[in-house]
Parts: sequence; structure tokens; C-alpha cells
Amino acid sequence: MTAREILERLVAFPTVSRDSNLALIDWVEDYLASHGVSAHRVYDPTGQKASLFANIGPEVAGGTLLSGHTDVVPVDGQDWASDPWVVTERDGRLYGRGTCDMKGFDALALAAVPLALERDLKRPLQIVLTHDEEVGCIGAPLVIPHVLKTLPKAAAVIVGEPSMMDCVTGHKGGTGFKVHVRGVEIHSSMMHRGVSAVMWAARLIDWGNQENERLWAETPSDLAALFDPPFTTLHTGMIQGGTAHNITAGDCWFDFGYRVVPGEDIEAHMARFRAKVAELEAQMQAIHPDARIEVEGRWPVPGLKPETDGAAETLARSITGDNGRHVVSYGTEAGQFQEAGYSAVVCGPGSIDQAHQPDEYIALDQFARGEAFVRRVVDRLCD
Ligand SMILES: [Zn+2]
Repeated sequence: MTAREILERLVAFPTVSRDSNLALIDWVEDYLASHGVSAHRVYDPTGQKASLFANIGPEVAGGTLLSGHTDVVPVDGQDWASDPWVVTERDGRLYGRGTCDMKGFDALALAAVPLALERDLKRPLQIVLTHDEEVGCIGAPLVIPHVLKTLPKAAAVIVGEPSMMDCVTGHKGGTGFKVHVRGVEIHSSMMHRGVSAVMWAARLIDWGNQENERLWAETPSDLAALFDPPFTTLHTGMIQGGTAHNITAGDCWFDFGYRVVPGEDIEAHMARFRAKVAELEAQMQAIHPDARIEVEGRWPVPGLKPETDGAAETLARSITGDNGRHVVSYGTEAGQFQEAGYSAVVCGPGSIDQAHQPDEYIALDQFARGEAFVRRVVDRLCD
């Protein structure tokens, strides 16, 4: 099968993060088996999703690991010119959900399997396909320990998120909270006896504004200075609550997200937030004991720190010829591989501008560049 035929198959599985990806994983497992490669699965706690990994070639250390996620963002409410689950070529582009982010790279990695098997590999090609990347990089930390335990450790990890084949050596980490403020309803004319969940949520969100001002006023570290913006950011993107203009709100829900410069302590940021929650909750309960603030923390995703003489960076740069410095403010699984002890970079075809959009596409020339890149990766494994 060509890389494009594989891409067509992968896109046809509507693996939105909220749904099972097992049909896709079954297909990939069969594909690998048809080439005599056995795959390992790691299920999530629900058993409805799985990551998959495989070793192609000799079981020795020092190989190259290509990693991609299998889930995609929803298409709900988006206006698509063609069926998002059918790869459609128009104007030198392949349209379809996930073509760019990132089943295109997944397809290239899988298409490399028969190429690698024809060759006299000295070191292995390894492939890791994860689930639930789009909902907080949940799958990778479940599968990475199994890869480390089962396979000889690869020297370089390439996470093929769309980077226009630039070699991205750093990205921010992230975490966040789902917050539920529980107030006490009362007619707003008597608001001094009620607790408005909306107004107390506003205090917590405004604390986020103050944190931003504090962080932004600091002189950025050399590492932070690489990023735009060169500091950690706190953000609320959604809020909901209250029932009427004259009732103190009983409930308010909002999300609170962080994008953290690599090297900064994510847990410390989270601890500051929790301390503020405790302080405000005590003040609310002084008004009414039923009031409270419930927080549910998201999985912290580590940032990717630029490495010194990193094997992954050296490999990707030597193949792409890209010597520019690229860091991005979105998170990927590369930080998780690095945290587990791998050398890792982000390098993949397509532009992040197309990711998550209606009419998502990968340009054919980018797909071809990605294909050439993966072939060169295989070449290097024969040296
Ligand atoms: Zn992605």
C-alpha cells in the first residue's frame, strides 16, 4: 500500500477523541501482521481505546522511534466542502479530518514498514501510535513506560505533529483545571446572605489576570525568551453559570488553563492555584457553610526543552537541512517522551494552521517531503 492509500484508510476511521479508536488499531495491527510485524497494545482504563507500538528490524538499542496520535478533533458544527472522513484531493491538497493532524504522519510511518523490512537495518525503526492526544496528551504517558520496558531504547524520537518539516526543539507544557463554584441561591436583593457562584468565580479568574501580570513583568529566562509570548500564560476560555439576573448564582463552571514555559515547575503553578481556591472557599464559607469550590485537575503535560547535542535534533536537522530555531507554544507528546528519558523533537508534514480547522488538509508537496524524510530515516538505520 502507498502512504496515500494508508492515509485514506486511517482517515476513514472517525477516531474523534471521545470515541473508541479500536477499529483503527485493529486495522493497523492487521497491516503490520501482513508484513510479519507483531504489535503491542496498551489499553486505556475504559478498554475502549488503545495505543500500539512495534519494533521493525533488530531488537537492539539506538533505533529511531516515529510517534503519532490516532485521535482527531470533532467536526461538529464545522462547515466542510467534502466529507471529512473521506480523503479528497483538490488543488494539490488532500482534504480530510486528521490529514494534517496527524494521520498523515502516521500513514508515512506505517508506509515505511515494508521499506525498512527490505533493508539490512542495523538498528530498528520503532512506531508508537497513541490515543487521546487531543484531550490532554493522556495516551502517551500510559504507553511510553511499556515501550521502554518491552523494546530496546531508541536513540531518537520524532513526533510528527505538523511543523512544515521544520525541526521543533521546544514547546510549552500545559495543565489546567475544571472549576465548579457552588454558591447559595437567594433573591439578589438579599445578596449579602447568599453566595453568588458567578461573582466568586470572577474573583478566581481575576486572580488569573493578576498572575499573568506578575509573570509577564518578570525578565524572561534565556529559555523562556525563545517563546512567543516569552512567559507562562493562564487562560479561561469557557464559563457558564447562573439562572436569572435577580438570583445569586447557585453554580458557575469554568475552565482554567496553563501554558507553561519548559523548565518551570508545573506542579508549583498548580499548587498556587489550589492555595487561592482554598483561600476564597474559606471566605465563601464564612458567609454560608454550603458554599464551596470544586476543582478537577487536568493531566499536566510537560514542556519540551531544547536539548544540547540531542540525537533527535541532530538526526532531524541532518535530514531536513533545517538549522533554524523553532519553538512553539502548543503542547505535544514530545515533552512526554523527553521526560521519560528519550531525545525528542517535533518534525512532521503540514501546517499547524490547518489543524482542527474545517476543510483540514495536507498539501501534497508536504506529504511528499514527509515521505522523503521517513525514507531517509530508514536509510540512516542501515549505517
Ligand atoms: Zn496533533
